[in-house]
Amino acid sequence: MASPAKTIQVYRISGYVIGPCEKCGKEERALLMFEDYGMGYECLSCGHSERVDRVEWIDGDKLPPDWGLA
Ligand SMILES: [Zn+2]
Repeated sequence: MASPAKTIQVYRISGYVIGPCEKCGKEERALLMFEDYGMGYECLSCGHSERVDRVEWIDGDKLPPDWGLA
């Protein structure tokens, strides 16, 4: 019944979440904080969002090459 704890790795400065979206497979996930301060991610490509149990912070501001921030 209990699913294993979901963990994401996030670049502390950029908010980029490592790894592909579980829905569309693109690596364009960004850190998302919910109204109750729960942490999760949102896919900037397909809009899929999901809560996670744990966040591992990585120092740095890496972004995927095709994120195209203006
Ligand atoms: Zn997606």
